[in-house]
Amino acid sequence: MTRVYNFSAGPAALPEDVLKQAQAEMLDWHGAGMSVMEMSHRGKEFMSIAGEAEADLRELMQVPDNYKVLFLQGGASSQFAMIPMNLIGRTGKADYFRTGSWSKKAIAEAKRFGDINVTVDREIDGKFTTVPERDEVGVSADAAYVHYTPNETIEGVEFGYIPDTGEVPLVADMSSTILSRPVDVSRFGLIYAGAQKNIGPAGLTIAVVRDDLIGRAIDGTPAMFDYATHAKADSMYNTPPTYGWYLAGLVFKWVKAQGGLAGMGEINQRKANMLYEAIDGSEFYNNPVDPSCRSWMNVPFTLADAELDAEFLKQAGEAGLKTLKGHRSVGGMRASIYNAMPEAGVKALIDFMTEFERTHG
Ligand SMILES: *Cc1c(COP(=O)(O)O)cnc(C)c1O
Repeated sequence: MTRVYNFSAGPAALPEDVLKQAQAEMLDWHGAGMSVMEMSHRGKEFMSIAGEAEADLRELMQVPDNYKVLFLQGGASSQFAMIPMNLIGRTGKADYFRTGSWSKKAIAEAKRFGDINVTVDREIDGKFTTVPERDEVGVSADAAYVHYTPNETIEGVEFGYIPDTGEVPLVADMSSTILSRPVDVSRFGLIYAGAQKNIGPAGLTIAVVRDDLIGRAIDGTPAMFDYATHAKADSMYNTPPTYGWYLAGLVFKWVKAQGGLAGMGEINQRKANMLYEAIDGSEFYNNPVDPSCRSWMNVPFTLADAELDAEFLKQAGEAGLKTLKGHRSVGGMRASIYNAMPEAGVKALIDFMTEFERTHG
């Protein structure tokens, strides 16, 4: 068996230690005589798995007591609707930052439920390569909440700060940056993330919601889309994604073993710096994003000659460096270097890029 370095943007690589543990526990979890996949979500075994995963996530992110941690389904894309359904009722209005492809989708969905004020729009000539300066960001007085995407997965654009929205709840789509470094949860009203980038397998969605934002859903909100339903039932209103929840729990333990979010953050910053330095130090590769807001997680880059893209991908694949093709809307390459990508994987990519430039540049 050979495992490759998988630079996929999502579903993404998982830590090998986690996969091995899941493999060892696959047929018989801790003497239960069955796989976690086969267990009742209401049995004491799964309840212990679920409780431990939540406790570990709370510890990692230092989630204050007045926040619920919800284990949901439907992906971040369902949250694009759940957020306005649950939060917009207070004024019927919300502010959104438009900084890339995912925030565009969040805006399109929110418009079904109220007046959406796009207070930040960073699109220039069809491209997103910047975020606003900290003091450029204002808040509408009547906004029920402010929504932004701290890391735009497709464009590789990331906020290096948390916007200050005063008393207005700040909502963040952290799908591609959650657990990548320490975060002050108390600055947010709501944080959400699909699991398939930094948490676990696809099918699980995490929402960290401040208590006062729960129980305010607009009339007609289906039970499954109401945070109150899930908060009251400890995310067991219906059958939760049990196996994803279990694997997320293994990943949380793995992140703790890396030194928690502080340790993870140091590793991630080193990985990103290494790759951007290699790109900037070459005449052959280019990253279009303003250096002040380059993502630690998703690094898009182009080759000096796009005619060489196919050859680059072919040779990279042969060298065990997979899924480097850029998003169709941006072109070129994209290396997603989430938590589970080891430093050795980034080094292998840089070595390959250097050699490719030498032979094709
Ligand atoms: C991947 C991603 C999404 C979409 O997530 P789904 O779980 O597929 O709905 C949304 N937002 C961001 C920032 C993402 O990276």
